Amino acid sequence: MENAAPQQPDDVQQPVLIYDRIAYNRRETFLLLIGFFLPGDSLLFTAGFLASGPSDIPEALHLSLPLVLVGCFFAAVIGDQVGYIMGMRVGPAIFKRPDSRFFKQENVDKAQAFFDRYGAKTIPEGGYFSIPTTAMDGALIVGDAAGFLNAQRLKGIHLAIKTGMLAAETIFEALVRQDCSQAALSQFEAKWRASWVREELWKVRNYRQGFEHGFWPGVLHAGLQMVTGGRGVRARYPLRKDHEHMKRLDEMPDGAAKIKPDGKLTFDKLSDVYRSGTQHEEDQPCHLKIADFDICNNRCTREYGNPCQHFCPAAVYEMEDSADGSGRRLKINASNCVHCKTCDIADPYEIITWVAPEGGGGPRFETM
Ligand SMILES: Cc1cc2nc3c(=O)[nH]c(=O)nc-3n(C[C@H](O)[C@H](O)[C@H](O)COP(=O)(O)OP(=O)(O)OC[C@H]3O[C@@H](n4cnc5c(N)ncnc54)[C@H](O)[C@@H]3O)c2cc1C
Ligand code: SF4
Repeated sequence: MENAAPQQPDDVQQPVLIYDRIAYNRRETFLLLIGFFLPGDSLLFTAGFLASGPSDIPEALHLSLPLVLVGCFFAAVIGDQVGYIMGMRVGPAIFKRPDSRFFKQENVDKAQAFFDRYGAKTIPEGGYFSIPTTAMDGALIVGDAAGFLNAQRLKGIHLAIKTGMLAAETIFEALVRQDCSQAALSQFEAKWRASWVREELWKVRNYRQGFEHGFWPGVLHAGLQMVTGGRGVRARYPLRKDHEHMKRLDEMPDGAAKIKPDGKLTFDKLSDVYRSGTQHEEDQPCHLKIADFDICNNRCTREYGNPCQHFCPAAVYEMEDSADGSGRRLKINASNCVHCKTCDIADPYEIITWVAPEGGGGPRFETM
């Protein structure tokens, strides 16, 4: 028998790489089939596989890395769409099969019932520069409420947990010292800034602002920010206030479409108010302070078409014809208010101030 030449490391490396890649894809496909999600890993490994390989092995692909990176982007978009279409066409039949072990119609119905009841959740994506003062006399703000969310990754649970833990530590120390003043509780501010919470949010501090001028400029800025540790083209990207995004009537396209609620997934505003369990003490001073009704009834009507009627989710603001025929006047149904504070933020003239109502009224969100 002829002596075989010993295998060189490179000879071994290529088949191992290929088998590992195939095994990984199979593993991931299997995990996806039984209901686990590993988004993105497959793409990363495939990209590495296409671009790598020892230079003296002709069978290796050796594609240029920039080409692979651009290709991956298009592959991801196309793959996403193909997956969506397949899911839409084939998905419902899989869920109805009696032998589908993990894909049960019962689970779909449960998810549907959840969204029917609670609706969608909003994401606070302002980022690091939008986080307010998190400590005040007798209170701390944690999690999404303060904007602790990594908008680049759409992840916030870990930040909510960590800030919750740091807040609990701070509160414990304050209770031991019997001092819950802002000065004592501001230890929380120091704690989260000294933790990985600040480090993580700092790296994506300009992410949302990069999308100010649309999707493609945003993608470009996001890429630059990734290689510059969150900086991008400047240290701090400008962030416009929400109300500055409001469009005037003459900037709006004619016949802008109005959403018609279907009563199943989308609801009219009064049904939403009912579902939120909102209650207020009657006969109390209005907790929505309007600095100048003249602006609402005249200038805002002309310039913006009273957008408060539309952005308020609880039909609090209504323009109604005045009894003396002098035109339309703003009416405030303050008892409907679900305390979202959108009006305080979105009103283009900044003349609405939300204050806490008397008697602890507001939405109850029972069982949520
Ligand atoms: C579509 C989507 C996908 C996401 N995916 C991920 C993900 O994959 N991984 C991840 O880490 N993060 C993800 N996030 C973000 C994550 O959900 C949040 O960052 C996280 O839930 C914040 O936790 P929280 O406790 O601060 O706030 P929440 O989870 O919002 O909890 C606040 C609670 O307070 C209740 N509440 C509000 N007002 C009142 C009131 N007046 N009275 C009584 N109760 C009230 C609410 O009903 C709610 O239950 C996602 C978010 C969205 C919208
Ligand atoms: S706080 Fe929200 S619900 Fe209340 S009036 Fe303003 S926009 Fe409407």
